[in-house]
Amino acid sequence: MKIFKDKQVLKNEISGLKNLCFVPTMGGLHNGHKSLIKKAGRFGRKILVTIFVNPKQFNSKKDFLSYPKEIKKDLIFLKKLKINYLYLPTFKDIYSFKTKHKIYEDKIGKTLCGKFRKSHFKGVLNVINRFLEIIKPRYIFLGKKDFQQLYLIQKHIKKKKIKTQVIQCKTIREKSGIACSSRNLNLNESEKRIASKVYHLIKNEKFTIKKTKKIKFDTKQIKRKIMSYGVKKIDYLEYLNTSNLKKVKNFKSKFNIFIAYYLKNIRLIDNI
Ligand code: AMP
Repeated sequence: MKIFKDKQVLKNEISGLKNLCFVPTMGGLHNGHKSLIKKAGRFGRKILVTIFVNPKQFNSKKDFLSYPKEIKKDLIFLKKLKINYLYLPTFKDIYSFKTKHKIYEDKIGKTLCGKFRKSHFKGVLNVINRFLEIIKPRYIFLGKKDFQQLYLIQKHIKKKKIKTQVIQCKTIREKSGIACSSRNLNLNESEKRIASKVYHLIKNEKFTIKKTKKIKFDTKQIKRKIMSYGVKKIDYLEYLNTSNLKKVKNFKSKFNIFIAYYLKNIRLIDNI
C-alpha cells in the first residue's frame, strides 16, 4: 500500500492507469467500508482509498471535532485489505486549486439531511468533485447507507458528464441490525440497544406494509414509539421512492423508510 499526502505525487503515480477503483472515506473504518473495498476488488483493478474528514460538510464545529479519527487503526485495517493506494490529503491539498467543473446540486439536496444540515451536501459535492478531478477514477464505490449522498453524487456526475461510473454498494449491518457507521464508535451499549430497537421497528413497519398492503402510513405513531425508546430528537422519518426520493403514497411503489435521529448528541441516519 503506497501512501500519498500530495496530489501531484499521487497524480504522477496513477496517471495512465485505465480502470482505477476509488473508495472515498472519512476514516473510522468498519465493515461497511470493507465491503466497498471488497467489491472494488471484484472488479479486479487497482484500488485507491482516501481518508479525509472534510470540514466543509460539517455544519457544526463540535460535530467535526467529535467525528472519530482513528488513523493508526485505519492503516492496519487497509494494509490487511491489500489496497494499492491511500491518499491522505491535507485541507490545502484539496482546496487550493480551481476546479474544472462547478458543483451541481440537484434540488433533492435541499430535502431530508439537506434541510437539517445546511450546506452539508454542497460540502460533500465539493470534495467529491475535487477528488474526481485529481484521481480521474474509472469507478467510484458508494454505500446505499448514505442514500441521499449517493443520489446527489450520481446526479452531479451525470450532469457534468464526468467519465466515472458509480457503483452502488449495499448497507452492511452489525448483528443487532444497526448500520455500521463510524459514528457508532461514540455510542455506548445502551444507546446501541436503542438504535437496534429503532432498526427493528422500521424493518417490521416495512414488512407490515408489504404484507398487509397498507395504504396509509402513520408516521406520527411510529415517531412516538421511537421517542419512547429514549431517542432525543427525530429530524425526519419518511417513506420515499428509491428511484427519485419522492414521497410514496402507497405500498405499490418500491420504497425505503428513511430516518435521521439523535441519540445524545450523535446523529444517526439509515434507510431500510
Ligand atoms: P464515510 O466514511 O462515512 O464517509 O463513508 C464512506 C463510504 O462508505 C460512503 O460511500 C458510505 O455510504 C459508505 N458506508 C458507510 N457506512 C456503510 C455501511 N454500513 N454499509 C455500506 N456502506 C457504508
